[in-house]
Amino acid sequence: MSNHASDDLIRCSFCGRTAHEVTSMVAGPEVYICDRCIHDAAGIVRSDLAAYPHPTSAAPRRKTAGRRLNPIDIKAALDEYVIGQDRAKKALSVAVYNHYKRIDHDAYLHEYEDVELEKSNILMIGPTGTGKTLLARTLARILDVPFSISDATALTEAGYVGEDVESILAHLLHAADFNVERAERGIIYIDEIDKIARKADNASITRDVSGEGVQQALLKILEGSLVGVPPKGGRKHPEQSLINIDTRNILFICGGAFEGLSDIIARRVSTTSIGFMTEGGTRLDKHDPHILHLAEPDDLLRFGLIPELIGRLPVITALDALSDEAMKSILTRPRNALVKQYQKLLAMDGVDLLFEEDALEAIVQQARKLGTGARGLRSVMEETMLNVMFEIHARPEVGRCRITAGSVLYGEEPIYEERKASA
Ligand code: ADP
Repeated sequence: MSNHASDDLIRCSFCGRTAHEVTSMVAGPEVYICDRCIHDAAGIVRSDLAAYPHPTSAAPRRKTAGRRLNPIDIKAALDEYVIGQDRAKKALSVAVYNHYKRIDHDAYLHEYEDVELEKSNILMIGPTGTGKTLLARTLARILDVPFSISDATALTEAGYVGEDVESILAHLLHAADFNVERAERGIIYIDEIDKIARKADNASITRDVSGEGVQQALLKILEGSLVGVPPKGGRKHPEQSLINIDTRNILFICGGAFEGLSDIIARRVSTTSIGFMTEGGTRLDKHDPHILHLAEPDDLLRFGLIPELIGRLPVITALDALSDEAMKSILTRPRNALVKQYQKLLAMDGVDLLFEEDALEAIVQQARKLGTGARGLRSVMEETMLNVMFEIHARPEVGRCRITAGSVLYGEEPIYEERKASA
């Protein structure tokens, strides 16, 4: 709402613009609405009617369920884009299914009005480049909801230099093309949440401003409240009026590598049981990447997250480091796999692109050296393909290009085969 009540100008009750700043203004009993807000509001109503039949519309209410995928469908859709990470996919599918069920329940099951379903915000723990962001982004795509990514390390407590937590919502609003209602059903991925941990073990620090303060600030939006968001984000535009966003139905997915957490888990597990055995009976030590699957809220507390924040992230799931086999599949299998992308690019030049098996293995080995998980695959691939993409125009006779391990490892020329002369 406008906070410019002190002057006598007629202002839009929604955006605060004065009558001079807009083309027309419609007056109601003690309220005004400008043509721009009418236009925006109409857009919201239209897209809502199309996407989620509104309770006041003539459409049957139960129709919303039609848009709701079940956990099995969600997982199957994730499988098309994300390799491995089965446990995380299952946990996410269920959490997301429950999340949207909860939204619909709130609206439609009046007999359960007093029962508040807890929001299933999610915490994903796992090494860098294993698919955390990809999972969150793919979920949003499957569900057709707005999605934004923010980095926890860029955030600060109000009053410090850096981004306010409200900027997180501004990003989502932007992703939703400023459609507030759509934004309010969106998904926000907050990366590097582990980097704002309190340095708990450092006894000389009594209060860690950059860590705990930001966690406190995050709480406000995670727990579901009405937050005034500067649509352009940041403090650079102090004159902008705020847009209220209700964060109750926004799904927050937080991710981080949580280095050192496996030591904390190992210490706990080794003191509470004899050796550390998984349910499957395998022995784990702190170097075993699977140990992250045993993470519990207590471990996160020791790591330096504040209890309130942990309480707001009830679903904890771990991602595994990627095996060589998984990395190789990432190159070829997902819908938009890198190999497919380059094949498409070269097909546009009329050239078949093939990768020999050991070339794919070499790409994986080179990518491993970068230590950024599957993210490294792209850089190695780009490096390998650069010369090919550069040269191919000068060689119109080439109909097929075969990438060898030598091309990947030593920059050797791939095997070019001539185009077969067509009759
Ligand atoms: P992080 O876990 O650090 O968030 P990302 O999800 O950003 O990692 O992964 C970086 C890139 O690596 C993705 O864009 C994707 O191309 C690839 N990638 C990582 N993990 C997987 C996976 N499990 N399946 C398919 N691609 C993956």
